[in-house]
Order: sequence, then structure tokens, then C-alpha cells
Amino acid sequence: MISIDFSQAIALYIFIFIDAILIFWIFSRKQKDKDLTLDAKFIWFCSVCTYTYINTREEAISTCPRCGNYNKKN
Ligand SMILES: [Zn+2]
Repeated sequence: MISIDFSQAIALYIFIFIDAILIFWIFSRKQKDKDLTLDAKFIWFCSVCTYTYINTREEAISTCPRCGNYNKKN
């Protein structure tokens, strides 16, 4: 049987605990990065003032935030 003293057991316990937190943090961070990716259909290009903007609410026609022109998806 493996014999370890009390301080080694505490150190091992803390090491495993920190490892678990680190692994959880890395995986949750990767998921957050995936959520931040932007679909190309949300990027709009104004035909009047050439302003590029993001609108996730509209699908077919969107209003330009700079000049107010109505833009249609190509
Ligand atoms: Zn515009």
C-alpha cells in the first residue's frame, strides 16, 4: 500500500481540485468563443453610404444605422 503523510495528501487534494477547475475553465472558454462567431447573414452592407453594420433582427430588409436607407439582402 502507498503511504503518504497528511501534508502530501492535502497537497494532492488541492492539486486535483485546481486541475478540475482549470479543465472546466478551458472547456467553458472554448464554448464562449464558439458563441461569439458571427454568421455572414447578419453582416449588412449599405448600398448608399457603403457602411458595413451588423443586424441580427432583420432577415430580408434592414435599415442602415448611419443614413437610414433600406438595404435588401443579395
Ligand atoms: Zn447607409
